[in-house]
Amino acid sequence: MKTKLLDARLPREGSLEEMQAMRKRAAAAIGEAADILKRGGLVAFPTETVYGLGGDALNPAAAAAIYAAKGRPSDNPLIVHIAQRDQLTQLTGCVSETAEKLMDAFWPGPLTMIFKKKEAVPNGTTGGLSTVAVRMPDDPVTLALIRESGLCIAGPSANLSGSPSPTSWEHVYNDLSGRIDAILQSGESRVGIESTVLDLTEEIPTVLRPGWVTPEEIGAVIGGRVEMDPALFVNRPRDVSAGRDEQPEIRLLEDCVGPAPKAPGMKYRHYAPKAEMVILQGSQEAVHREAKRLAQEQETRGKKVAMLLFSDEDLAAAAKTLFSELRRCDEEGVDFIVASAVEASDSVGFAIMNRMLKSAGYHVVTV
Ligand code: AMP
Ligand code: MG
Repeated sequence: MKTKLLDARLPREGSLEEMQAMRKRAAAAIGEAADILKRGGLVAFPTETVYGLGGDALNPAAAAAIYAAKGRPSDNPLIVHIAQRDQLTQLTGCVSETAEKLMDAFWPGPLTMIFKKKEAVPNGTTGGLSTVAVRMPDDPVTLALIRESGLCIAGPSANLSGSPSPTSWEHVYNDLSGRIDAILQSGESRVGIESTVLDLTEEIPTVLRPGWVTPEEIGAVIGGRVEMDPALFVNRPRDVSAGRDEQPEIRLLEDCVGPAPKAPGMKYRHYAPKAEMVILQGSQEAVHREAKRLAQEQETRGKKVAMLLFSDEDLAAAAKTLFSELRRCDEEGVDFIVASAVEASDSVGFAIMNRMLKSAGYHVVTV
């Protein structure tokens, strides 16, 4: 199948005529994308978190096609995207007061909420679960697409399963060209990491996947306790000391014992670049010194090395660039990535580390 590129870039500046022409082209692109979705096809769409791969959430054949295009394990449920709150009534009969407050505060935005699902939502969309994950993305192109199609749109990240999530339409094209009907071309994703996933089906709201919306912010809105899925802590870096001559300890997801994550997707290998990756943890000075030493060591072995040295001072930039940097390393044929840990006691830092640890296969060295 040939993947169609549909130009939905909205004007930022230009003459009146140019701006009008761009708006017209975007409207036509959105219209064409909506028609594809209504026919059961697949269209990648922009969001503020990462690009999504959309299909009709209530059509089991479209859901099955999403899993096939991504190579996604069939027990990993899809997030359903809506543009208006009244669409929720098609998906769930249980919207609590807590959920209403959270929607008021965070929608449209990077918070996904899990509800008990209605019969009409196919098991093929929810990975066989009796619950459904729903979010209203904060992107004008995608909100227009959902409205125009009149559908609830299932949309996991638009990457091949296992690779870093896509934050530009080019990333989507590299992974899924020839496997999906179309890509809505728009700008880069602003947030850069996936939404916070919050389970509202138990008594105490529980974060299953950390993201840009923090448990502190959620707690402040609902005026009550928020829990974290204990599985999120199982794989946190243990103090692993690696002296100069010692082999760093490598921890793999499969080696970790503890409770299974409640979000099925959290147990899979994820976000992995082709290169070997190590995360250095310690004072900025020690990390920079060890990064330089490691890079030299690898280079003398003929390896191509890249450094991803993030700053705790600008976690927004770390979130926005992590996945695109990992993809850039792949494109440039990098063999070895040295990354610096960010401060995981900060909730956004914790969300970034949750991704970075998976990218590195839990290969952390404390310096
Ligand atoms: P992605 O769409 O690739 O961003 O991943 C969606 C994440 O949400 C995965 O980790 C899923 O396992 C999780 N998720 C989606 N629906 C549910 C659900 N009904 N219950 C628990 N986790 C869910
Ligand atoms: Mg994903």
